[in-house]
Amino acid sequence: AWEIFVSNIFIIIMFLAMVIGIALGLGVRTLDGWEYYQKRKIFYLRFPGDLLLNMLKMLILPLITSSIISALASLDAKASGRMGIRAVVYYLVTTFCAVVLGIILVLAIQPGYKGTTKINKTGNTKEQEALEALFDLIRNCFPDNLIESSFRKQTTDVGTFEYQLPAANQSGSNVTLYDDYVTDSPKVKKSDGTNVLGIVVFSCFFGAVLAKMGPAGKPLIDFFECLHVAIMKITQLVIWYSPIGIIFLVATKLIEMEDPNQVFIQLGYYMLTVLVGLAIHGFIILPLVYFIVARKNPFVYMYNMAKALLTAWGTASSSATLPVTMECLEMRNKIDIRVAKFVAPIGATVNMDGTALYEAVAAIFIAQVNGISLSVGEVITVSLTATAAAIGAAGIPSAGLVTMAIVLTAVGLPVDDIRLIYAIDWFLDRFRTAINVLGDSYGAGIVEGLSKKDLEEFDRQHTTNQDDDT
Ligand code: ASP
Repeated sequence: AWEIFVSNIFIIIMFLAMVIGIALGLGVRTLDGWEYYQKRKIFYLRFPGDLLLNMLKMLILPLITSSIISALASLDAKASGRMGIRAVVYYLVTTFCAVVLGIILVLAIQPGYKGTTKINKTGNTKEQEALEALFDLIRNCFPDNLIESSFRKQTTDVGTFEYQLPAANQSGSNVTLYDDYVTDSPKVKKSDGTNVLGIVVFSCFFGAVLAKMGPAGKPLIDFFECLHVAIMKITQLVIWYSPIGIIFLVATKLIEMEDPNQVFIQLGYYMLTVLVGLAIHGFIILPLVYFIVARKNPFVYMYNMAKALLTAWGTASSSATLPVTMECLEMRNKIDIRVAKFVAPIGATVNMDGTALYEAVAAIFIAQVNGISLSVGEVITVSLTATAAAIGAAGIPSAGLVTMAIVLTAVGLPVDDIRLIYAIDWFLDRFRTAINVLGDSYGAGIVEGLSKKDLEEFDRQHTTNQDDDT
């Protein structure tokens, strides 16, 4: 009870950190000459936040490997196979629901036709073939070098999509929105970050093989189980630091932000569409699915995930949030450890409902802004490619913005128009990441609910076997 009490207080502290971060960021903006808070100062102010990000990221690799391997190694092929199928079905169904919801909303609200300002079209299209992207995705499942793929993803030249914003335009034309961003825009590269997908696939194989090996595999199973426990203990320490990190991550983001007054009406409606969609998905659809399957109160479950959701909002990265997600699943929601260890890391890598919804809305928004009305077939293509693009997106900030190139090329929309939504992406990114993490969390609860019988059956057989042995 004492632990739960402390944990509840801590949720309040994390929430306060978010509020303080927002207040600090907006406060600095009201200071005279805040525009001159150049990159260097922001860089210093971000330091405590960078520490948090690094600490969380440093845990990802050992956490993913130890979780998946020890989970699969502790079950037999039948139990883990069924669990895997349930997880994949859940991921696909909920991601697709999110896409459909996004499409319905964007077609109903029509953010791209709102307001009078029409966006100047400039630049030409940089193609990223959907096929190349698919190859990249599959190739990343089988990394040629495990150590190397802990650092880098493999991408083809075409796949390495580097996005450069148009040069600053001070002459009062419509694209002033992007002034300044141009000079210090982080060049979004698809090849950034760890090839988590490759590590996940390898760990699944490894765990399954260990399970098959019987007593011979025991030393390694014990090793990975022990590693998992140790990493979770470190996670708990890092969580204590997280409010401080969140304050500065949020504050510096707000200081860097472009003046919102310049945002087009269209963009306002676009943001509204995405946020309404995320809210419906997160507060109605996912809880409903959870309630139907698990027959427990979905909002208590959601509240128990609060630390993870706030971390997701603060870091905009579902991979970096993974340690916190696991902690909440294990400690607060008391999910069967084998399910949590298996479902959460895979979910953080491939299950991104928020991203899928956002990709669909953004693609159709760009079509609307260009005055292009998509045919039914094209809308279906958007829905399928948005699902694929969300699966392919890494759990890092703004990854969804990059994989959107796949959706846009698939229906022949100008990829360069990603710049239209670039400036406000950081904001939507936080909300969609929180929904991504929420989807993973409910996923663990739902798969646990569906797998209860199998797990009990497995435990029964296992204990009888042990009794026979003795
Ligand atoms: N930032 C998101 C995540 O980590 C991915 C995205 O950009 O949509 O889940």
